[in-house]
Order: sequence, then C-alpha cells, then structure tokens
Amino acid sequence: MQPALLNLPFTPGPDDLWFLPLGGCGEIGMNLNLFGHDGAWLMVDCGVTFEETAKGQQVQMADPAFIADRAEQLAGFIVTHAHQDHFGAVPWLWPMLEAPVTTTAFTANVLIGKLRRERVDAPVMTVREGSTHQFGPFTVTWLPITHSTPETNALLIETPVGRVLHTADWKIDENPVVGDGFDARQWQQLGDIDAVICDSTNALSPGRSVSEAALAADLTEEIAGAPGRVVVGCFASNIARLQTLGHVAEQTGRYIALFGRSLQQMAQAARGAGYLAESFNAIAPRDIGYLPRNEVLAIATGSQGEVGAALRRLAEDSHPDLNLDPGDRVLYSSRAIPGNEQRIKRLNAQFMERGIDVVHADASNRLLHASGHPCAEELEDLYRWVAPRIAVPVHGEPEHMVANADIARRAGAAVALTGRNGDLFRLGQTPSVLREAVPAGRMAVDDRGRIVPALPAIDPQRLRVDPDLPVP
Ligand SMILES: [Zn+2]
Ligand SMILES: [Zn+2]
Repeated sequence: MQPALLNLPFTPGPDDLWFLPLGGCGEIGMNLNLFGHDGAWLMVDCGVTFEETAKGQQVQMADPAFIADRAEQLAGFIVTHAHQDHFGAVPWLWPMLEAPVTTTAFTANVLIGKLRRERVDAPVMTVREGSTHQFGPFTVTWLPITHSTPETNALLIETPVGRVLHTADWKIDENPVVGDGFDARQWQQLGDIDAVICDSTNALSPGRSVSEAALAADLTEEIAGAPGRVVVGCFASNIARLQTLGHVAEQTGRYIALFGRSLQQMAQAARGAGYLAESFNAIAPRDIGYLPRNEVLAIATGSQGEVGAALRRLAEDSHPDLNLDPGDRVLYSSRAIPGNEQRIKRLNAQFMERGIDVVHADASNRLLHASGHPCAEELEDLYRWVAPRIAVPVHGEPEHMVANADIARRAGAAVALTGRNGDLFRLGQTPSVLREAVPAGRMAVDDRGRIVPALPAIDPQRLRVDPDLPVP
C-alpha cells in the first residue's frame, strides 16, 4: 500500500474489520456493501432500484464516490446473485471502479449479457460454488444458499482479526426445484463467526416461507381448469418457476412461449449454466397464435404493471404475436410489490373489461407464488446455527431491520446493530456504529442514458421496490 493511500480518511488498519453499506441498508434495493480491513476494501454487490419520478420510473443506484475515490484500495468486487438489486448497476458503476467482477457461472452469463448490451467491457471472473479465493487480505468462500434465482451464494469473509458471514438474499428451501436444497449442516459447521450481515426483507412475517416445490400442484390445478389460453406473469429471474411451469405445461397438454426480452435472456442464461431441463421446450411466441386456445401457456414479463412489458401490451391488445379473447386467463405467479398495487389494478381492469379472467397469487387461496426471503422462524434458525457474536440486519426498511435485530438477540446474538447507508459498522471486540461516516448519495440514469446525481427519496414508502424486478 502506498503511504499516500494510507493517509486517506477511513482507511481500515490491520486491527480493524469494518462493514460500510452504501446502498441497501434501510431500503430494499440498490445493494452496495463494503468490507474494510488492513488498508483494503472488498465490495459485495452493486445493484439498482426503480424510483417513481414525475417523468415515470427511473433507474437509480448508490453513489460509489467513497470507493471510487480510493479504487486502488479495492481488493475485490463480488456479485452474490442475478437479481437487479444486486448486479444491475455494474454496467453503470464499473467504469468508476475498474476492478474485475467475480461471481458464479449463471450470474456471470446474465451479467455478461447485460454488459454487452450496455457496451461496457468489464472483465467477469467465474468461480465455483463452495470454492475459496483470496482478495487482498480477505479470504472469501462461496456458500450456496437457497433463494428465488439459481446460484445465490452467501459469503464467508475471513481476515486475521475476524470472520463474517454475509448472507445475501436467502430462504430455507429444502426443495427449490432448481439447484440443491438448503443444507443446515453447512451453517452449523462454520466455526466461530464474529458477525452475520443478514437479509431482513420478510423479518416481519411470522413462520416460514413456502417451498418452491409446493407450488406445482396448485399451479397445475389452476391452469388445468382454464378453458382458454393461460398467460402467467412471473419474475424473469425465477428459473425454478419457469421449470415448474414447464412441468405444468406437460401435464396439462399446453405449449409454452416466453413473452418479453428479459424472460428470453434469463432462460438462455439458465440453459448456458446447465439449468432448465430438456423438458422445458418453449416455442417461438409468433407460433403460439396458431394453436388451439386450450393448448397455450404463455409466460410474460410485466407482473408489476410495467409500461411496455408483455402483460401491458397483451392488456392493450397491441402485442404483435398474441391476441387474447374473452374466456382466456391471466395468472399472476408473483406478488404485487408495495407501491405497484394501483398500476397492477389498472392493468387487470383492462383485461377484465375484455372478458379475460384474472387470478392473482396475492388474492388466491391456492399457492401460486413463493417468496425468496426468510420469515421470522428461518432467521431464528440461521442465527442459532451460526451463533454470531454480532448481527447486522440489512436489505430492509427500518422496521424490517429492527424486527430482524430482535430475532437475532432472541436467538443469542450478544449485539445487534442497525443503521443506514453511510454508517460505518466496526465489527471488532467492542462493536460500534459511526453514524453518517461517509456520504451515501444516489446516482440515476437520465433520459439520455447518462449517469447523473439523484436526490434520495424523501418518502420512505417510495423506497419500497422489488428485489426481483427486472429492468423494464
Ligand atoms: Zn435476490
Ligand atoms: Zn435482494
């Protein structure tokens, strides 16, 4: 390390182990986390959020100025999984950092596609799940964990002065349909952990999340009972849901077609990484209009009512490849993200005016959607297995993080620290938080595709965005 760099403010010393979130702490979206030790930083995730502005929806992300100003100290840049709130800002922010991005194969496929479309020439290094790699003074082990997209990994981050588990997004799913089931032993055998940085999204929900595998029966019933075409709205990155719908199509004698660019890109990335079974045979959208109505199972983007997405175009009857008729059914295998309810309601009114049935997972007695995040009992399990000294809830609004902290204390953590973007969490023998240590601003992509400073949202409700929402 050059002496000049060590003189920069907030340079961690050899006895320090710091956590510094610049995005995603106090909100759900635009995650950007930094870990500091011995003159170096490790960056984990670089995501976007979707902000409603007067001009419509805008892509926003954390301002990386703090780490960009000391990019020589950046020892590693890791992406945990292929959700927009974790990797969506890489094409925009990478030119300010220029460190290679390290991730697993499926996420790399999705990320490389995005980088190409944005014409950003960032190197992407691929690692195997379960493997260990050195980034400056940080030893990092990828620990596979179940979530709603393949190859989501928690990270075990080890330094000579402490060991941290960064969970990323997760749930306990013994049968996730795609990839291996949750393995409790992996977490029980981690050894002494000083701190857990943990997903808070569903900390206010009691009980446990529903397994992805539990949806097949109800989706089959719902689709088998439809007399005409069925259009399923779901999140493009949920490869397990696509696989389940592939099985349902076989069972109900229907053909699948994917409507929307992000669905087609995700399916391609999944096949490239060895996911989606042979049985998942999507036909071209332009061919589906020729089939008898009861042989059609279209999967479409736009379950949040996004402008220009496939569901919206089907509602407006302006899709070039498919026109729906009275008696067809639109089925949402997704939840309404808080803030999007009115837009989805208006979309559904358009379908219903035309005599098209609408079934939404949020309003159905059947199990038509499963969340990818842990509920209270799952959080408690993880804290008991890992037994950290310190818990730091992130990936939530303040009330989610406070609920997560309470669970951690109940499960035996000596200290639970909550804070906001820009707070410096010191994870040493005497844990503490330095409030507002560094500026935590936002950047936005403007109308002309340029990166410009953005005002942070004032109303915390407007921070509620979808962790799984594809870029429209
Ligand atoms: Zn996620
Ligand atoms: Zn997330």
